[in-house]
Amino acid sequence: MPAGHYQYRVLVLGDAAVGKSSLLRCYAEGPGAAGAPAPCPTVGVEFYSRTVRLPPAGRAKLQLWDTAGQERFRSITRSFYRSAAGALLVFDVTNRASFEHVTEWYQEAAGGGATGEAAFVLVGHKCDLAGERAVSAEEAGRLAASLGMAFVETSAASNLNVELALQTGLLGPSEAW
Ligand code: GDP
Repeated sequence: MPAGHYQYRVLVLGDAAVGKSSLLRCYAEGPGAAGAPAPCPTVGVEFYSRTVRLPPAGRAKLQLWDTAGQERFRSITRSFYRSAAGALLVFDVTNRASFEHVTEWYQEAAGGGATGEAAFVLVGHKCDLAGERAVSAEEAGRLAASLGMAFVETSAASNLNVELALQTGLLGPSEAW
């Protein structure tokens, strides 16, 4: 396939308001975009894309799907799971319930068929809010290890690890970008 013709679908899953849209906007449109008012909460599925370079000389178009956290939209997102190259399971480090729902999101995606080739990564978002933490990095790291995936802490507000989280979500933790 000629360079530039690859397309990868990456899903971003997690409860409402954990920061999924902000994370994607930061990645797709640059750090400044995350501070702009977001349509909140996300309704249905929001779509972003970004073309990235892949070693050695290829290019790929990333399709980034920001799925709504609300229960009633889960039937929409279910149909997207099957062809996903990767999925970010996002929780808010200041919101304990969003962390406790991660396993459900994982089971939902795995039950929808996003296993096998798909690379999952656990993302602890809003890590700039250190004083309000409800989930430690150690605890989240243990959950990620038990589910067999990488763990990355991110902040759209501080533009911390946003690239890393998306790269891991696409290629898996062991591959060089
Ligand atoms: P979504 O519903 O999961 O897509 O969440 P949004 O992206 O709409 O973000 C929910 C709220 O969290 C908004 O008020 C954002 O401004 C805020 N937020 C998103 N990312 C960050 C972050 O990295 N740090 C902080 N402190 N707030 C954030």
